[in-house]
Amino acid sequence: MNSLPGVEGRALGAYLGLACGDALGATVEFMTPAQIRAAHGVHLDIVGGGWLGLRPGQVTDDTEMSLALGQAIVDRGGWDLQAVAESFVSWLAGKPVDVGNTCYRGIRRYLTEGTLSSTPCEQEGGNGACMRNLPVALATLGRDQALISWSVDQCHITHNHHLSDAATVAMGRMVQILVAGGGRESCRPIADRLVADHPEFRFSPYPGRAGGYIVDTVQTVLNFFFATDDLESCIVETVNRGEDADTTGALAGMLAGACYGAEAIPRRWLDRLDPNCQRRIGDQVAGLLAVARGEC
Ligand code: MN
Ligand code: MN
Repeated sequence: MNSLPGVEGRALGAYLGLACGDALGATVEFMTPAQIRAAHGVHLDIVGGGWLGLRPGQVTDDTEMSLALGQAIVDRGGWDLQAVAESFVSWLAGKPVDVGNTCYRGIRRYLTEGTLSSTPCEQEGGNGACMRNLPVALATLGRDQALISWSVDQCHITHNHHLSDAATVAMGRMVQILVAGGGRESCRPIADRLVADHPEFRFSPYPGRAGGYIVDTVQTVLNFFFATDDLESCIVETVNRGEDADTTGALAGMLAGACYGAEAIPRRWLDRLDPNCQRRIGDQVAGLLAVARGEC
C-alpha cells in the first residue's frame, strides 16, 4: 500500500500524514513550546498520553471526523449533505475521545432541529470544519466548483464563519495541486491568494500563535509547510509549537503527505499508528479517488 506511486501515493500520504500529525500532536496539545521542551526536548515520537490520556498511536476527533465525512461520501458514491450529518451523529454517539464545543453544538442542533447549516457567527472561527475536509478534496480532485460547494456545505453543519470557509477551500485547493504532483511551490499562489483576500492569514513573518482559531492554525501550518522541505520536519516543527497541536499537526501532515507522498512518512510513526485507522484510511482513499474519477 505504501509504495503506491503517483496520485494514489500522494492521496494516501495526505490522509496518513493527517492521522500521524494528529496522533503525534495530541500528546502536546494545550502545552506551550517551553513546556514541551522541558517534558520532551523535541517531541518526535508517537507515544500517546497528553491531556486525553491516549494510547500510543490513537488518533482524535480530527482524524475521526475526517473518516466520518469520507465514509459518507464513499457510501453514497458522491455528495449527500444529510448523509454527512448523519455520519457525524453516529460518530458522536460512539462517545469519541474528544469533540470540540462548536462541533458538538452543531451536531446537536442537527439532531434536535434537523437543520444542516448553523447560522453565521463571528465568534465561532474555530478550526473544526477545516480540520476534517481532506476527504472532500480527494473526492473532488480536478473539480473546483464541487470542491467549493461540498467544502462550504460540510463546514456549515457546525461552523459558519467566512474565514473558516476561505481557509478550508484554500487548503483543499492546495491538497489537490499537491496530489496532482505539482510540488510545494506550485501551491504557493493559493496561499498567497488567501492572504491577499483575507490579510488576517498573513503568515510571514510567523506571528507565533498556534491555537484553535482558524487564523492561528492556518498561519502555523502554512509557515512550517513552506519553511521545511521534508515531511518529518514539517510535522515535528509544527506540533512543537504546542497549543492546538493535534490539529495543526493534522493539517501540516495533510499538506506534507500530499506533497511528499506516503513513502515519506517515517516507518516508526506508521508502526505506532492505530492499525484499524490505517486500514480505514487505505479503503477510503481508494473509494474517494473512485468518486473523483466518476466510477461510482
Ligand atoms: Mn483533536
Ligand atoms: Mn485539536
